[in-house]
Amino acid sequence: MLTETQLRTATGDDLRTLRSRIFEELRRRDQEGVPGEETSSPPGGRSGREVIDQKGGNGRWLKLERVKCGKTRCKKCADGVGHGPYYYLYLTNPKTGRYTSKYVGKPANVTEEMRQEFGIEVAEPEVEG
Ligand SMILES: [Zn+2]
Repeated sequence: MLTETQLRTATGDDLRTLRSRIFEELRRRDQEGVPGEETSSPPGGRSGREVIDQKGGNGRWLKLERVKCGKTRCKKCADGVGHGPYYYLYLTNPKTGRYTSKYVGKPANVTEEMRQEFGIEVAEPEVEG
């Protein structure tokens, strides 16, 4: 992490670069569903995502989503295809009542426990780059 001295001695340009990097990283995390990160948005309310399948309820959901990375030069996103689909596990933190999500990834990463809990049949993994 940056120290206070580093921040004070940084030029305005440095700080602006840093700020844009921080925003980029936050956006990336939001899209990937960084484990443990909590959000006040209910599942499915996030932008840049297309929910293909959804299972669950009572505070736990398993969703299959296509994700837009937001990069201007990304061909997949420009074509409207996006990335994935990837599985995400959404759950409610009982203490805070806030939503959190875990990136699960490709169908092959869905554990047997998740399949049983959500009663899903996982399709063959799609080939993708
Ligand atoms: Zn993209």
